Amino acid sequence: MPQWPGMNLSGGPVEVPEQTRRAMSRPVLYHYDPAFIDCFAHTSDLLQQVFQTRYDVVIMQGEAVLGLEAAAASLVAPGDTALNLVSGVFGKWFGTLIQHYGGELIEIEVPYNEAIDPEDVRRSLRDHPEIKLLSVVHSETPSGTVNPIREIGEIAREFGVLTLVDTVSGLGGDPFLPEEWGIDLAVAGPQKCLSGPPGLSLLSISPAAWTAMERRQAAVRGSFLSILDWKESWLDQRRFPATPSVSEIYALESTLSQVLAEGMPAYNRRHAAIAHACRAGVEALDLRLWPARPEIAAACVTAVLAPEGINEAAIRDRMRQSFGVTISGGYGDLAGKLFRLGHMGVGAHPYHLTAQLAVLERSLADLGHPVQFGAGVGAALAALGDWDEVTKRSPVAASLATAS
Ligand SMILES: *Cc1c(COP(=O)(O)O)cnc(C)c1O
Repeated sequence: MPQWPGMNLSGGPVEVPEQTRRAMSRPVLYHYDPAFIDCFAHTSDLLQQVFQTRYDVVIMQGEAVLGLEAAAASLVAPGDTALNLVSGVFGKWFGTLIQHYGGELIEIEVPYNEAIDPEDVRRSLRDHPEIKLLSVVHSETPSGTVNPIREIGEIAREFGVLTLVDTVSGLGGDPFLPEEWGIDLAVAGPQKCLSGPPGLSLLSISPAAWTAMERRQAAVRGSFLSILDWKESWLDQRRFPATPSVSEIYALESTLSQVLAEGMPAYNRRHAAIAHACRAGVEALDLRLWPARPEIAAACVTAVLAPEGINEAAIRDRMRQSFGVTISGGYGDLAGKLFRLGHMGVGAHPYHLTAQLAVLERSLADLGHPVQFGAGVGAALAALGDWDEVTKRSPVAASLATAS
């Protein structure tokens, strides 16, 4: 039997804190027990705070892919034109979902080490007044890049186009304000930057998105993909369309409480600081970052090109087998090209970062790549700056935490 790793710094699911794992082991309640109703309602309130919105939130049961498919099924009617923005594997996949639900697809595609230019979005919306829906991935985990969601959302709002954002690995890592930025439907997951277990889809839904779903001629109903079923059961009547995953909800309640205790600004700041330090460490080792520019590098993972002559899988195997540190490789079209250092959730910490860079250095040396030991770790620590300043809790978040 393979030994379990000591650190899970993969592209997700990532390490889940002990406190959350304990919460999951509480007794499984009947889902209409008043204590469970209270827990589900509290968890939904916490999710609104994490999304920093007054929009409705829905917790669907199934890993985020379910939430994304539900979003496509609910917002794309046959014959509707949708503008899909592609800067990576997940964006490309979403285009196939749009077509699956009968949508007419217009795509803006950039190389997978680049980000979408908002001006291209403006041009496309101007040239195609028939576009009803815009879809985009916030943080492209496989490429370690982010898209300028704020600017894109504001442009879409000018044109009165509904927006759908995959922020599965964005929420928590990079700032994300759906209401301020004009995002109608956002889908996140607990298992990336929030450091929760996988299994749920977390949705933020604007009034315009509800209206669009309700106006559809054949609105999705009586289906596990129906977001409207959740509105009419849970939001309107405190009933469930199906039995919720009780233990997953305990975990989510604990996960979100921990995130909010830190506060969203501090939580984002911690991810940004570690990602910045990680990039400095990688560059000091003379390795090449995959994202074309540091401004578009994601907060969740740092994607790195494998050095010439070394197989990226060999680096990861060495880190995992000899040192117990799990990281991820490329995914989809990026498989074999790069490896990704992880810094999501509890892993966004100097403790994990320095260990990860240290065993990367040793692993590269073991594979015959010249390394000056300590160069990566040293550069990362130098770039980190004052950690106490980074981790200072924000006053707003502290009041949110005491209110719940
Ligand atoms: C993790 C992730 C998903 C969910 O996909 P899985 O393949 O089931 O992990 C969707 N979108 C993004 C951007 C993700 O990072």
